[in-house]
Amino acid sequence: MTQTENRNVLHATQIVIKEALGKLGFGDDMYELLKEPLRLLTVRIPVRMDDGTMRMFTGYRAQHNDAVGPTKGGVRFHPDVTEDEVKALSIWMSLKCGIVNLPYGGGKGGIICDPRQMSFRELERLSRGYVRAISQMVGPSKDIPAPDVMTNAQIMAWMMDEYSRIREFDAPGFITGKPLVLGGSHGRETATAKGVTIMIDQALKKRGKEVAGAKVIVQGFGNAGSFLAKFMHEAGAVVVGISDAYGALYDEQGLDIEELLDRRDSFGTVTKLFKSTITNAELLVKPCDILVPAAIENQITIDNAAHIQAGIVVEAANGPTTLEATNILTERDVLLVPDVLASAGGVVVSYFEWVQNNQGYYWTEQEVAAKLQEVMENAFENVYNIHKTRQVNMRLAAYMAGVRKVAEASRYRGWV
Ligand code: GLU
Repeated sequence: MTQTENRNVLHATQIVIKEALGKLGFGDDMYELLKEPLRLLTVRIPVRMDDGTMRMFTGYRAQHNDAVGPTKGGVRFHPDVTEDEVKALSIWMSLKCGIVNLPYGGGKGGIICDPRQMSFRELERLSRGYVRAISQMVGPSKDIPAPDVMTNAQIMAWMMDEYSRIREFDAPGFITGKPLVLGGSHGRETATAKGVTIMIDQALKKRGKEVAGAKVIVQGFGNAGSFLAKFMHEAGAVVVGISDAYGALYDEQGLDIEELLDRRDSFGTVTKLFKSTITNAELLVKPCDILVPAAIENQITIDNAAHIQAGIVVEAANGPTTLEATNILTERDVLLVPDVLASAGGVVVSYFEWVQNNQGYYWTEQEVAAKLQEVMENAFENVYNIHKTRQVNMRLAAYMAGVRKVAEASRYRGWV
């Protein structure tokens, strides 16, 4: 890492927000409003561990801006969660909701913990403790959590149950990503990956290529990465590489995706079962047509951006590419579909789930899939047009599309 590269995700996102607002003709006062979340709550959660000891966990909930509507965004459980990361993630949620035109602002939560080292019951106590700690600031018309890194439908179910007990009413719309039997939506679990496949199709079209036979590397085998590998494999692409937090697998003939899906654990760990693994860093620069970072932040940097062999990079993770690396990829004519666009499928189907909860009438899988397809295709086309007509890179184009709604809503409300 050299000193010139900015790997603080909050600072990096602030730079692009400022540029996007400038291009749209908003002044510095709007930047001052939007550069940080309006609210950030830090909580400390006592949890009784299975061995009888008490452990304190630190968690956050950030609400970036609620001018458009209630804030919305996931909760991640990860040892590397920081305050700045949660703040940046909440800003990205505002951008995503703007890009796909949802009536929400951005929110995000996180708890510093390693769920891979915790038992089922400890995770339940932590999830319930977090909801008790933040219950005053969240709610179906205030701020609606959802899954994110290493959280899932079971954790959403515990959180909803805790909220319903505190508030003494059944509140399915308090949280999305729930199990189907508790008011979840068809297609929510696979939504981020589905959205990414739609982005890949659009990007391939722009490059005059086909999905059949295209070589794909997916970094990360969690919720987004594993379903994506499955969908790409089913669509006739050749998935040549995958990885998890511990290592990566690469085979230029294509990996046995069905076997890998079968053998992964619930956190997406699979490479530990194999002897001939390579590192994540090695995987990213292997030959392929499409590279999908679907893990964590700062994976494509000035150290490897010049060596990425893919012609298309689609960011399923939040913040996987630094700004400097974005410039290098753009100069090399790599078509980059940025995170705030590419990974918006999750929050789109979360919105569908919340709408279904509010009306108490549920849609079929086909209805959800068709609506998601339409929203994501329109969002891609809009961002791509801004990129072409305003001569800006895809990340800046996505920020311009995303920040407009929250900026206009804030101005109409007289906040700026
Ligand atoms: N955590 C997901 C994201 O980063 C989904 C958020 C949601 O569904 O509200 O987009």
